[in-house]
Amino acid sequence: MSKKTEQARTLLEGEKKRIEDELAQLGLDAQSNDVRREGSPFGKREEEATESLEFEKRLALEKQLGEQLVEVEHALHKIEDGTYGLCDSCGEPIAKNRLEALPQASLCIECKAKNAKTRV
Ligand SMILES: [Zn+2]
Repeated sequence: MSKKTEQARTLLEGEKKRIEDELAQLGLDAQSNDVRREGSPFGKREEEATESLEFEKRLALEKQLGEQLVEVEHALHKIEDGTYGLCDSCGEPIAKNRLEALPQASLCIECKAKNAKTRV
């Protein structure tokens, strides 16, 4: 394994840990919100509105973190496979500066651009 790949793996493992911690924290926040609601009978309507907004924000964040986690795990898997740094779509090497900016990138910039267009 090259030194670059070794560095990427360390970065990705750190990133994975961070995302998992954030997801766990979101779960804890949700629990403490439930406890607080039981203890306060006043201003319920207003509180519920705030909470549903909080809930939506939390869901969006959870979704985003979940997607990031999938990307990071995918990149770690590619390291194990020895295909890290190669584009999933065309098999060409991904630009070094792209990988430095985004170690979990699994598509080269060209395929990423094409992909964005077809998906939307
Ligand atoms: Zn490509």
